Amino acid sequence: MSIFILFELFILLLFLIVHRNTNIFALINLYFYVLFSFAAVLYFGGILYSGGVVFIGLAGALNSLAFLKPGQIRYIFIVYISTVIVEAFLQPFLTKVPEITPTINHVLFVLHLLVVAKVFYDHLNTYIRESIRAKKMEAEQLKEMEKIKTDFYTNITHEFKTPLTVILGLTNPDSKISKTSFSNYIPMIRRNAMRLLQLVNQMLDLSKLEAQIMQVNYIQTDIISYFRQLIEPFRHLANEKEINLHFQTTVKELYMDFDPERMDSLVGNLLMNAIKYSSKNSLISFNVSKLKGEDKLYNIGYSIFPPRRYYPDRLLKLEIKDTGIGITKEEIPLIFNRFYRVSRNNHELKEGAGIGLLLVKEIVKLLNGNLFICSKPGKGTEIIVLLPLTNKANQTEPGTASAQIIAGNGKHPEFKSPQPKAGKELPHLLLIEDNDDVVTYLETVTANFYKIERAGNGIQGIEMALKSVPDIIISDILMPGKNGYEVCNTLKKNFRTSHVPIILLTAKSDKSSQIEGFEKGADAYITKPFNPRELLLRLQKLIENRDKLKAKYKTLAIVSDIQQAKAPGPDEQFLIKTKQVLEKRFSDEDFNPVELSNHLGMSRSQLFRKIKALTGLSASHFICFYRLSVAREKIEKTNLNISEIAYEVGFKDPAYFSRVFTREFGMAPNIFRQKHHN
Ligand code: ADP
Repeated sequence: MSIFILFELFILLLFLIVHRNTNIFALINLYFYVLFSFAAVLYFGGILYSGGVVFIGLAGALNSLAFLKPGQIRYIFIVYISTVIVEAFLQPFLTKVPEITPTINHVLFVLHLLVVAKVFYDHLNTYIRESIRAKKMEAEQLKEMEKIKTDFYTNITHEFKTPLTVILGLTNPDSKISKTSFSNYIPMIRRNAMRLLQLVNQMLDLSKLEAQIMQVNYIQTDIISYFRQLIEPFRHLANEKEINLHFQTTVKELYMDFDPERMDSLVGNLLMNAIKYSSKNSLISFNVSKLKGEDKLYNIGYSIFPPRRYYPDRLLKLEIKDTGIGITKEEIPLIFNRFYRVSRNNHELKEGAGIGLLLVKEIVKLLNGNLFICSKPGKGTEIIVLLPLTNKANQTEPGTASAQIIAGNGKHPEFKSPQPKAGKELPHLLLIEDNDDVVTYLETVTANFYKIERAGNGIQGIEMALKSVPDIIISDILMPGKNGYEVCNTLKKNFRTSHVPIILLTAKSDKSSQIEGFEKGADAYITKPFNPRELLLRLQKLIENRDKLKAKYKTLAIVSDIQQAKAPGPDEQFLIKTKQVLEKRFSDEDFNPVELSNHLGMSRSQLFRKIKALTGLSASHFICFYRLSVAREKIEKTNLNISEIAYEVGFKDPAYFSRVFTREFGMAPNIFRQKHHN
């Protein structure tokens, strides 16, 4: 007993002197309980004759539940159980101590048992109390979350309803707005639609954040020209409120890595707030500059993250400053919380759902940056965002970044509309889309430049495309019957339509569905809502690219041995088939496009369109070009006279042959021979 008391006193003294590492003292103490009880049991003559000393060890092990970590608790129990097992095995070899008479043994046993029962009861009690408290807290948290969610839905539905009311009201046929004055309301409708779009984007970002799938897709391009385009719609918005929005930069051009989608959300939310919380005639400035990492970091106001040490050498500094209503010092740390909105006098309460700054914070975190905010009620707010400036991603054309924002957000930098080519037949555009409103809108955008056909679903779209072989196709993705990917896949595999460029138009803006579209052969991908000018430009560019290929196919069909091409695509296969027919039939003067179409199993008009699309030639011109090319080869390589060659390649009249040869190759056949035989 004296050893026990002495050791306990020693541990207590040590703890009082050192006064830290409580956990280690508890651990030593509890092990001492276990080992002391083991030694005492052995000394007194075994478990049954030691007055229940074995329970002292059990009390020690049980006490570990309150002090130690799960791993430590496991070990102390293992040690205790091992000592009990050893005691049981050693029992036959132990001798009882005479002082412990059966009565003393009995009394001590009961006392020790009571002690251990008390310890056990205490722990059980604490455990039950804790679990009831945890359940209560969980229920409270759930209730709180429910309240936040209900508030959020109430807020957000209100947010949606306001712009919708404006749009629906102004476009209601009963509203008796005259056609002439309607144009005055278009900016208002657009502004409200933009607000809806911003809300949808915020909600999508929020759900990505919650699912932790927000990614960064870096591109490298000139961020200054990207910003210039980005702020355009905000400038309009500010001007409408008679607020001046200034964009200033210390560098003319700055190529760096950034993710346009994230940057758009970051800067967009900050600019939107600056405009929202500023009044008439105030000033907002957006400054962009480059910093050296070592420059003394900002100590302006509040920073949402502790200063970061892992910046690269260079930093991008974005500064958005307004002279609006400002925020109090106490509220500043709170405004970055989910759904937090500063409560102001009712007349000052602006539209908003309290997620803009949460997104800003999360994006800054995702981009390894930092944000500083300084604000004074009545004076204005200044927000500085610092972002690492790197140049690792693949370089992209400056336009690409803005094209992405436009596609994603419907913001509209100025694009030049393509001009319809006077006197030329309009290209044939097939729209595959099930939504009548979208079709009407697409028709109004494209009607001046294209001859339009419409299919209401994927199956109809495929049928029409195969029948009429359009010059270009715009297809939706989500449609009844066959979806856009299947349309793409089918048309790109069919040699009649494989050359036709296809634009997929869809509300899905995530990368994986874009990749799927490209895998199925789509030539371009445009996300709704889209900029009409961008769509027209894409259409025009795709048709131009197709034109550039024509020259290639024209020569490919005649001169090079396309059969040798490895894994020929449907277009090459079509040309191979055509060439095989021509090789057999070109010398027959009666051979004509109708016969060619019969051989190829296509209708006349399908063949005409396909050949025109691939080579830029009409079908009869194509046959003629083939004959002339064979003739040219014969002139070069044989000594047959020109008339003989003309007959051989299917011309009845050598004079006519000479004329068309001269027109095609820029010199008469006899001159061509002289040149090549010299
Ligand atoms: P909201 O949709 O309410 O604007 P935010 O998360 O974007 O949500 O902003 C949270 C709160 O922070 C807002 O309710 C507003 O009171 C305050 N706030 C944000 N930016 C500014 C600013 N530039 N000037 C004044 N107050 C601001």
